[in-house]
Amino acid sequence: METSAITSGQASPGGSADLDVPKLDVIVIGAGVAGLYQLYRLRELGLEVRVYEAGTDVGGTWYWNRYPGARFDSESWSYGYSFSPEVLQEWEWPEHFAAQPDTLRYLNFVADKFDLRRDIRFRSRLVAAHFDDKTDRWTVTFEDGHKDSARLLITALGPLSAYTLPNIPGRETYRGQAFHTARWPREGVSLKGKRVGIIGTGATAIQCIQTIAREVGSLTVFQRTPNWAAPLHNRRITPEEQQTIKASYAEIFERCRQTSTCFIHQTDPRNALDVSPEEREAFWEKLYSEPGFGIWVGNFADVLTDKKANELASAFMAKKIRERVKDPKVADKLIPKDHGFGTRRLPLESGYFEVYNQPNVRLVDINETPIERITEGGIRTSAEDFAFDVLIYATGFDGVTGPYDRIDIRGPGGRRLKDDWQGMPRTFLGMLADGFPNMLMVLGPHTARGNIPRNIEEIVDWLSGLVRFMKEHGHRRVETRRAEVDRWVAEVEQAVEGLLFNEVNSWQTGVNRNVEGRQVRRILGYYGGALAYRRRIEAVAVGGYRELRFD
Ligand code: NAP
Repeated sequence: METSAITSGQASPGGSADLDVPKLDVIVIGAGVAGLYQLYRLRELGLEVRVYEAGTDVGGTWYWNRYPGARFDSESWSYGYSFSPEVLQEWEWPEHFAAQPDTLRYLNFVADKFDLRRDIRFRSRLVAAHFDDKTDRWTVTFEDGHKDSARLLITALGPLSAYTLPNIPGRETYRGQAFHTARWPREGVSLKGKRVGIIGTGATAIQCIQTIAREVGSLTVFQRTPNWAAPLHNRRITPEEQQTIKASYAEIFERCRQTSTCFIHQTDPRNALDVSPEEREAFWEKLYSEPGFGIWVGNFADVLTDKKANELASAFMAKKIRERVKDPKVADKLIPKDHGFGTRRLPLESGYFEVYNQPNVRLVDINETPIERITEGGIRTSAEDFAFDVLIYATGFDGVTGPYDRIDIRGPGGRRLKDDWQGMPRTFLGMLADGFPNMLMVLGPHTARGNIPRNIEEIVDWLSGLVRFMKEHGHRRVETRRAEVDRWVAEVEQAVEGLLFNEVNSWQTGVNRNVEGRQVRRILGYYGGALAYRRRIEAVAVGGYRELRFD
């Protein structure tokens, strides 16, 4: 291996005996879709890399989220890694929208194929990462007290890994089985014939509810905010389709490169308000009958930006709910009133609304009858005591910054990232945090996000290019420049102007009512589109990273 400034730095700060590999170049945190690919790319650079992962195996999101019904909302064949022609030809997705076990199998397949596990240490939850200004190295500490040190720290934490439990009194008193969907037991949970309560009606809950409703004895859904949802239209991939898919990967990924969300769906250039009601209705009927996110990100151009157009789209979706749910009162409860169609991440469903026609399923609107507490036996609302054998918390995540908040990350002079990010995070391109040298982030705040693996590949490639540049130029340290961060933050702020989603509370706008201090909306992504983001980051790389400071 060549020697470079990245590799030739002094041993770890403090010389602590339990520091693992004194000459480690890079520590990557997380062995999900991002961490695995980052490891692959860093190995190509001939660097000493170690990945640390809290779980017992690879997979990240797809390792943790094993709840019944968990699956892609992106077309499987547009979701997998694009970097390896061999993987593309060898792997076969069974369904157009793969279920979680298949995705986990896929990530294991990739890990095995490239022998990635030999550089991954599992069961290692990071609790602290401190930067030493004198040695330009990060020291990381894990839950079990183990420490390690490296020149560069790359965080591949996942934007939705910090799950949150509901802040309802009495949770600890409950005597039955209770699970957050993101911590569903590996061995599964038998729900057959059981009395089940579920809190939440987001994308996760919708998948879970529609799946378990068939087998449970009774299901009570506690809904605070209904969400718009559209049909997924999933089905198995036929052998002929498999062949076509394998022959078309270049076009599939090129298409993803051309859309603002990196899904295969392209926004329609027409405005809903410029076409006749008949044309509008016919287009929406078509989108409603087609698989995937077309109805969300392939809709008329003005649906997510113009209130009037959005109201029309919402009315169309409300009509569909009324058609599918027999009891008009229940249908009305399932229709969102406080946010327009598509202004929160759209859940895709398979028979979700029809579940409420089943006699064993009950919808409880907790705005009408608020939950007072969780009891030993179940849930007490202002109107009733419910008894459950199993309680499911489908209560979501402290999105994007939550995973960072849970680690004691300190830069030079003990500066705490958590303090810095209380309000609007300050990043450069979402990949470097202002004031935290040698920390590189995959899918940190202010990156473009849509079809996640597409975003990940782009970011990992960019970060790997930066690391290569450092190696070639003998740089030991990289950090942001204040003026460039100011400029990027301004671009991020400008990009959300006029977007209706920015006026709505959701994890995407940084709101989580279960987390102290997370009641105020913040901008957590770059919403100027993947093409603009790509242009911007590529220009920085091509220009020799002049926006960054190196030592
Ligand atoms: P979520 O969208 O944040 O939904 C959480 C749900 O729990 C909401 O209905 C929320 O109500 C409710 N809730 C939270 N705390 C509560 C409390 N104290 N009392 C009552 N209700 C409470 O979380 P999620 O469903 O886990 O989805 C998060 C994201 O994960 C999605 O947006 C998506 O990006 C991703 N995801 C992807 C897939 C896929 O690819 N197929 C599947 C699932 C999830 P309020 O709305 O009122 O806060």
